[in-house]
Amino acid sequence: MGDHEAHDTAETGTGEDLIASAAQREAETMATLREDEAAALEAGRILFAGRCTFFYAAQRLDQLPPVGLPEVAFAGRSNVGKSSLLNALTGQHALARVSATPGRTKQLNFFDLGARLVLVDMPGYGYAEAAKTVKQDWQGLMFQYLRGRPNLRRVLLLLDARVEVKPADLAVMELLDRAAVTFQLVLTKADAVKPAALARKQADIAALARAHPAALHALHTTSSETGTGIPELRAAIAELAIL
Ligand code: GDP
Repeated sequence: MGDHEAHDTAETGTGEDLIASAAQREAETMATLREDEAAALEAGRILFAGRCTFFYAAQRLDQLPPVGLPEVAFAGRSNVGKSSLLNALTGQHALARVSATPGRTKQLNFFDLGARLVLVDMPGYGYAEAAKTVKQDWQGLMFQYLRGRPNLRRVLLLLDARVEVKPADLAVMELLDRAAVTFQLVLTKADAVKPAALARKQADIAALARAHPAALHALHTTSSETGTGIPELRAAIAELAIL
């Protein structure tokens, strides 16, 4: 009998033993998560430490560069902070200059990042708020690019944390759903909003992401001014790069 009890205890453990081993397992899981997170951040840092060079501009579908490296496209309304975000990610200010060159605003600009990934700067859409403007601006080249590009891995759709989501943004989300391109919502200018308002905004945007079949649920919150969220966004992009 005594032996039997001892055997049971050894197999199942006392309550305290169980709690201690569960706590240890949780600590180990947390440590592994922290290691994974640190490794992902480091992978992002390394990718964006590579040279980022403008190599192609396309105004027509037949002008697209040959299908090659995985592509990640950046889209958002004019003034959303796209140039600033590209500069903050790459630490290079020449990128914005290229995109801002007059006459280049209605084209796709392609940037090679360390021969591992291509960043695609899409034209800012509808500063005027109407969804109609998006249709006019985006129905041609943009939609065809989104729908037909086999190496387009993701669109980052930027939304200004200070500004409500506009019909034009919703129109682009619908277009991405239709084109079946995975997209991820990225809040910009987080520094310009108080914490409580930012939390509300994040909740609203997360709900919006859940409502769109092509949207990833994870939301990125960034500030190009303070650097908030930049390493995390680099890490998310690095997952799509070739080694
Ligand atoms: P784009 O038209 O989308 O390329 O936007 P820009 O990058 O040119 O930025 C538009 C405006 O927003 C500029 O006045 C920037 O200084 C401002 N801006 C961009 N990023 C941030 C940010 O992270 N925080 C704040 N407070 N302002 C920003």
